[in-house]
This record gives sequence, structure tokens and C-alpha cells, in this order.
Amino acid sequence: MLNENNIYYITRKDLIDYGIQFLDGVGSYSICKVCIKNGGSCCNFCSHLKNGVGCQSRNTSCTSWLCGYLKLLFYSAGLLKGWNAFWDEVPGIDFRKDNTPPLIKMKVHIEVPRLKELGEALAVDLKSKLSRDEDNLDFIVLKKDLDELIDEIHFAENSTVASFYKKRLDHILKDFTEFRQSVIRMKIHN
Ligand code: SF4
Ligand code: SF4
Repeated sequence: MLNENNIYYITRKDLIDYGIQFLDGVGSYSICKVCIKNGGSCCNFCSHLKNGVGCQSRNTSCTSWLCGYLKLLFYSAGLLKGWNAFWDEVPGIDFRKDNTPPLIKMKVHIEVPRLKELGEALAVDLKSKLSRDEDNLDFIVLKKDLDELIDEIHFAENSTVASFYKKRLDHILKDFTEFRQSVIRMKIHN
């Protein structure tokens, strides 16, 4: 519930559930499925991962974290700034664990998107890429490259340097036809 200063309180558990809903709303899990199947999971070697079951210690840190592919998804959907601003308000974010208190005071609010098809389209392109590649190495390297490139675009904002990075991103995505079409459709309908 918001008060007159737009401040609200949310439990740590609800925050994690909300983050998961948000990730689902942009189709993130379609990408994770492809990634996990091809050895790229960010949960690899984590002590909280139970084989065949999944994470046994959901936390604010892993919920808020975006790999290069998810960053691409959020950036393309125009959700990256809002997502970052939202989690910047959450204390105690760490690596694979958190010290987030049970109740958190928040100001930033973000709406769960209805853009599952965007993540699904990216997953289709990633599957096609993997079927063309000899192994998963390029898939892993591309994830890291996208992570860095989107950070660079984000920090460069509207400067001429940003347009250089955006051209690089366009070049990287030239074979991602399903995803590019999905982005165009999203822009037409929103
Ligand atoms: S690295 Fe990214 S795509 Fe892969 S499982 Fe983790 S969040 Fe999902
Ligand atoms: S704590 Fe994080 S990295 Fe570890 S299994 Fe859970 S989600 Fe994956």
C-alpha cells in the first residue's frame, strides 16, 4: 500500500516473488532453459543448487541479477533502468546470498510486464545459434560480451559513443531475426 509520499513496505519474501514474476513476465525462463541445457547456467557450482530440483536458497541477490542475455532482454524492452532503480533500493544484496532485512521500505515501483514473447523469441534465436555452432563456447562468450556492451550503452546514455555501441549491438544481433521482429512488434503495440 502506497502512502502520500509513494513509500510502501514489502517483505523480503514478497520482493523475491515479485522479482520472479517480473522475470517471468518478460519471458526470461525461456532463455534460462536454453542456457541451462547448454551448460551456461549462472547457478553452476553453487552450494544452494540441488540437482534436478533447483535453488534451495532463493535470495534478493540472484533474483535481481541479470546475465548478458537477460540484460539484452530488459534493455530492448526498456525495462533496464526501472529494474536497476528498483533493486538499488534493496539493502543487503550480495553474491549468491543476501542480508536483506525481513521488511523493506521502498519508493520505486515497477509493473510486471506482459512481454513473454520477447524472451521466447530470443530463446528461439539462441537455439538456432547453438545448432549452428560447434560447441557452446561462443554462446558463453556472447553472454559476457552482451553484459559488457549493454552496460557501456547504459553508461554512455545519449552521447555519440552510445550510438557507436548501439551499432555494435545491431551487428551482434543481425542473425537474431525472431528477437528483432519481436522487438519491432512490441514497439508498435506499446
Ligand atoms: S546465465 Fe542467464 S540465461 Fe543462463 S541461467 Fe543464468 S540467468 Fe538464465
Ligand atoms: S543461490 Fe543463486 S546461484 Fe545459487 S542456486 Fe540459488 S539462484 Fe542459483
